[in-house]
Amino acid sequence: MRFHRPDLRFPFDKKSLERIFSQGSTFLAPQRVAKQLVLRTEQGMVAVSLGMSGSFLPSQYPKVALHEHVTLLFQDGSALAFIDPRRFGFWRPVVSYEEISKAADPLNPRSLQEVFSHPAFRRSLRSIKDALMDQTLIGGLGNIYALEALFRAGVSPRRKCLRVKPQEYLRLAEVIPPLLAHAIDAGGSTISTYRRLHGEQGGFQELHLVYDRTLEPCLKQGCSGIIQRCVQSGRSSWWCPRCQK
Ligand SMILES: [Zn+2]
Repeated sequence: MRFHRPDLRFPFDKKSLERIFSQGSTFLAPQRVAKQLVLRTEQGMVAVSLGMSGSFLPSQYPKVALHEHVTLLFQDGSALAFIDPRRFGFWRPVVSYEEISKAADPLNPRSLQEVFSHPAFRRSLRSIKDALMDQTLIGGLGNIYALEALFRAGVSPRRKCLRVKPQEYLRLAEVIPPLLAHAIDAGGSTISTYRRLHGEQGGFQELHLVYDRTLEPCLKQGCSGIIQRCVQSGRSSWWCPRCQK
């Protein structure tokens, strides 16, 4: 197995992946679970999401194709390439199928609605922001986009899940996918540069309406609020107390 970059949507867990696809291990039949492809060997299994643009194609390794981020090498000399121009796919080692099917795809409104409509989610006493960032519930919504989504939906990051209204959950499920898609489109080749500078995954300043804007005026039209900052579960949060209740 060869990696040609350190990450896609998430950093590669290289150690675990290399163990699962170690030399001499045998491929078992791949499976599809929810929106993910499960690659299996006797050593373990990996959930692969194609994201928005991922695909598997024969590889010409050691020649590496454009956007070929991972190469699997076989004993007969053949090789399989994972190609993903927009890099929103991921390879995640998992131990059980349950782990795979539970997490919603944040690019899919219906998948988000399913998670939001779960009674355990709706009755939860944790903050909506912490719940949005729970990787076991939603696959890959980081600090920036959880806050930006809450801003766009007009919901305070500090509100408990229990207190979020059904129509607000609907709004969240509507605003998250285009927000992420926009971020990916804006990304292109500057993603890694941005990440290096700011140490945070993804994110582009023109998309940051609330993130890192402490004491700046709210950018929502007609709102005269001032952006506030607080810390939740060790991470900074920003919100407008006027339009996010
Ligand atoms: Zn506001």
